[in-house]
Amino acid sequence: MGYREELTRQLRNSARAAIRRYLRENGAGLLNTLYSEQPIRVHVTPGVTVDGRIDLIKRLDDSAASQREVINERLLLDIRDKILDAGDALRENRLPRKSQWCDTCARCDLVGLCRDNPTVAP
Ligand code: SF4
Repeated sequence: MGYREELTRQLRNSARAAIRRYLRENGAGLLNTLYSEQPIRVHVTPGVTVDGRIDLIKRLDDSAASQREVINERLLLDIRDKILDAGDALRENRLPRKSQWCDTCARCDLVGLCRDNPTVAP
C-alpha cells in the first residue's frame, strides 16, 4: 500500500472513530438538534457588527428549562453595552493582557502567542 492510500486509510479510520465517539457521547440528544453551524450577523450599533457562527442550537427539554436565561430588555441592553465597550477597546487598542493565568487563558486561542501555559510541561 502506498503512502497516499495508507494516509487515506488512517484518516478514514480516525474520522469513523470520531463519529462513533460523538454519537456515543451525544447521540441521545441528536433529536433535539434544531440547527448546527448557523452563521449569525448582528448589527449592534453603527460601526459595531458581531459576525460569527453558532455551533449548535438545541431544543431544550423540560429538565433543562431551569438553565435557561430569560431574554428581556434589561439583559439585551446589558449585552449591547458589553459589546459597545469591547468595540471601543478594540478601536483604542486597549487590550490588556490578563494579569495572571486564568480560565479565560486556558480556553484562549492566542495562548501560544501570549504566554507560557502552566498546565503544559516544558
Ligand atoms: S492567553 Fe489569551 S486570555 Fe490570557 S492574557 Fe493572553 S490573550 Fe488574554
